[in-house]
Amino acid sequence: MFLEIEKINKYYGEGENRNHVLKDVTTGVEKGKICVLLGPSGSGKSTLLNIIGGIDEADGGNIIIDGAKLEDMKEKQLSLYRRKHLGYVFQMYNLIPNLTVKENIEVGAYLSDSPLDLNELLNTLGLWEHKDKLPNQLSGGQQQRTAIGRAIVKNPDILICDEPTGALDYNTSKEILQLIEKVNKQYGNTIIIVTHNDAIKNMADKVVHLHDGRIRKEYDNENKIPAEQLEW
Ligand code: ADP
Ligand code: MG
Repeated sequence: MFLEIEKINKYYGEGENRNHVLKDVTTGVEKGKICVLLGPSGSGKSTLLNIIGGIDEADGGNIIIDGAKLEDMKEKQLSLYRRKHLGYVFQMYNLIPNLTVKENIEVGAYLSDSPLDLNELLNTLGLWEHKDKLPNQLSGGQQQRTAIGRAIVKNPDILICDEPTGALDYNTSKEILQLIEKVNKQYGNTIIIVTHNDAIKNMADKVVHLHDGRIRKEYDNENKIPAEQLEW
């Protein structure tokens, strides 16, 4: 298993207000696979992603990536892990407003030893003709494409997408999911998509249902379908 999640527990708050947000969460994702993590709002999805991403700390349990325990990494290694091996895409695009599409993507290559070819990537993303525009000259879908470019230009081992289509309409959501699928095929990144859109699970290799901080159900999806054919 490339990404192993072992008995992760997480609490927020203290005393009476202590909230047990993740309860013995154990699962994993094979290298190069797409995992869709489903669950209602407040079930702990973003918290789990942030722990995998090394931007929040668990209260017990282990995250193991390619055999290396996150917990054992020193601060410097952890920072390198976040910068080099992990890409993050959010519902909100968070682009830098005074940089062009191309420049926003270049920012993501910072400190990477082996960034992807920028021109090839702009083509893959369907952004070639928009490369010199500023974010406010783009549609939501184009902004999310740019954010995906920024996350993958360093060719991260793991791409984490937290509600990547949360702010987009139906057609644009499908385009973005198709792009994520294309990135997975072309570059082989292991991808985790968090969503509360049930239909998206059909494009996954693995589906994990989180409910109230616990894994309620998980399975390998034997009959996955291309994102293009998803319907909801
Ligand atoms: P999801 O992404 O599935 O909607 P979250 O992981 O964001 O859920 O939140 C899970 C629970 O943890 C919720 O009850 C939320 O209010 C709580 N929570 C999340 N982040 C924090 C935080 N930084 N401090 C306190 N409580 C938090
Ligand atoms: Mg969330």
